Amino acid sequence: MATASANPVGRTAGRPVMHGVGSRVVRGPDWKWTKQDGGEGHVGTVRNFESKEEVVVVWDNGTAANYRCAGAYDLRILDSAPTGLRHEGTVCDTCRQQPIYGIRWKCAECANYDLCSMCYHGDKHQLRHRFYRITLPGGARILMEARKRGEN
Ligand SMILES: [Zn+2]
Ligand SMILES: [Zn+2]
Repeated sequence: MATASANPVGRTAGRPVMHGVGSRVVRGPDWKWTKQDGGEGHVGTVRNFESKEEVVVVWDNGTAANYRCAGAYDLRILDSAPTGLRHEGTVCDTCRQQPIYGIRWKCAECANYDLCSMCYHGDKHQLRHRFYRITLPGGARILMEARKRGEN
């Protein structure tokens, strides 16, 4: 069922941008902020990262606030993938999200290591390891640059 699309690899490779900014998110497993998001199932957008542990989200209802994205997970990333897309049979090796939703990040250097988007963007695992970005279950693997450069 997977169709390999022509992804513009060159456009994202090697640019030190925070890939998570602009991602679409919903409340995650550790959510405890009542209806700040407008109610369960409402969607927001990542505006920026305050730190590796904290992200600022603007909800579609206009509210903006900081949330935890390390240790505890207030959010779950929908990303640009269709809502509800899940990678059956996978588990995030950091936060144990099972299965992984949205985009699956597979380490290119380790035998069997996957991350969800929140952990990948939260700089989990070895920063010098390169990752495959997999948007469709069983679909094409796009090799990304390491999140941290070897030099400097
Ligand atoms: Zn995770
Ligand atoms: Zn690795």
